[in-house]
Amino acid sequence: MLIAGNWKMNKTATEGVSVIKNILSSVQQITSVDIAICPPFTSLASGSALISQENVWLGAQNMHHEPLGAYTGEISASMLKDLSVSCVILGHSERRSYFGETDEFINKKVLSALQNHLIPILCVGETLEEREQNRTMEVISRQVRKGVAGIPEQAIDQLVLAYEPVWAIGTGRTATPEMAQEVHAYIRKLLSEIFSQQKAEKVRILYGGSMKPDNAASLLAQPDVDGGLIGGASLDAASFVNIIKSAL
Ligand code: PEP
Repeated sequence: MLIAGNWKMNKTATEGVSVIKNILSSVQQITSVDIAICPPFTSLASGSALISQENVWLGAQNMHHEPLGAYTGEISASMLKDLSVSCVILGHSERRSYFGETDEFINKKVLSALQNHLIPILCVGETLEEREQNRTMEVISRQVRKGVAGIPEQAIDQLVLAYEPVWAIGTGRTATPEMAQEVHAYIRKLLSEIFSQQKAEKVRILYGGSMKPDNAASLLAQPDVDGGLIGGASLDAASFVNIIKSAL
């Protein structure tokens, strides 16, 4: 299991230190769940200095695919690696909708992350309109196929996918465990067609979208749900830790 917290654009570096300290002090005994804390870029340096537990990863929420250069405001994979960042969220629906990120652009980032030994957490998910038009699987298929294009065989087990129905993000509306399982199983099937069944089984598929301490256990109990990507509920150390505990 992997439980990842996406803080989005919340918490100053100063505020972040106490949240990270509180999380760390509560998970010292937990070794069977991987935990990723993905604060804003401004908290990565202090986060890196605080985290030493092997199963607790520091993560970023975005990066640029080019190694360096004239890309004002952007951050490269090597800059993240230098701060001991282990994983990076890519293709979040907020990046797709507010910043115009396309499947092709996201794919470049996925490949660059893997080349730099960063674990990409590739987010996919349909909008409410797409679900109501029965286009969920079509949208997921396109986002997954384009997002993972060109990944070399030996790098696939480093890949993490996150199914995040857009209508469930930050809305309090969660997919039912059955709805999540249906799409997760479909993603696994797609991966087995693109790569192989053996490789597809190694890819962790997280569910994200209003996951909270009170609904986490039933979602995480689904056979193809390998963890969670948590937004709002990861901002409070106690609720994030409760979700981690429901993955034990
Ligand atoms: C997210 O944005 O990745 C997310 C899952 O948000 P929330 O948990 O707040 O719905």
